[in-house]
Amino acid sequence: MLLSGLRPLTKIPVLTDYHVHLRPDDADATAEQYFTIENVDRYLEVAGERGVEELGASEHVYRFTEALEVWDHEFWREYAVGSLGEYCDFVRSTPLRLGLEMDFVPGREDRIAGLLDGHDFDYVVGSVHFVGDRAVDDDAYDIWDSGTDPERIWRRYFETLAEAARSGLYDILAHPDLVKVWGRGRPVPDKDPRFFYEPLIEAIADTGVTVEVSTAGLRKPVAELYPSDAFAEMCVDAGAAFALSSDAHLPEDVGYAYDRAVEALRGWGVNELAVFERRERRMEPLG
Ligand SMILES: [Zn+2]
Ligand SMILES: [Zn+2]
Repeated sequence: MLLSGLRPLTKIPVLTDYHVHLRPDDADATAEQYFTIENVDRYLEVAGERGVEELGASEHVYRFTEALEVWDHEFWREYAVGSLGEYCDFVRSTPLRLGLEMDFVPGREDRIAGLLDGHDFDYVVGSVHFVGDRAVDDDAYDIWDSGTDPERIWRRYFETLAEAARSGLYDILAHPDLVKVWGRGRPVPDKDPRFFYEPLIEAIADTGVTVEVSTAGLRKPVAELYPSDAFAEMCVDAGAAFALSSDAHLPEDVGYAYDRAVEALRGWGVNELAVFERRERRMEPLG
């Protein structure tokens, strides 16, 4: 006789969008303007239309004054005006998952851990935008006009993200090959890119950190998903788990180009996505 309580658990396919900003990256886009129920409703509406069941906010840490204890860079000083505690309280008052995009700053691991410990995140997205004190993706602090050899920039970028993975501070590695963002607009090394990916893939394999598939790259000059096919295939061989995000900064970019991302994931042989709650990961079928 079958007991009703022993029915097999059916898992429901899911689409996630965890790397989402509730406002554009302009310094004058204030919390008062954008951290409102009305604004969150606009994001939820687009998520509903595009079949995204798991929606979370992950604001840039450098928009909050607490970030200056981690890194006192000129760029961060310009943006760090809000309160991280108020952001967390606001997101917890909405149906959104609570995340944070926390830049990795080498040598500041203890300070990052201290900042993260004070809050009850569902997940923390780790990113590298700066190599040293110059940005790979921002004109204002452009590393590419410094005359540094592109091979050295690519090597240092992937080594830094590998260090982020090994720090154990993060649940998800954001836009893992962001260094390609400008496409042909900046010098690209001649070597096979897999040479540069290698140390990061090793760190992903060793730590089990989740790798983000981001459609943001499709909206940038490079016009490709993050990560590239070659990177993703190395991740699959390393047994990595994937999270799916848009890196939206506007409601209309929630779930942006997910048809292309899902097709790519299936092409890589990936049939599950990582879902996070209070920094615990579980895998669900890809929607
Ligand atoms: Zn980012
Ligand atoms: Zn972002």
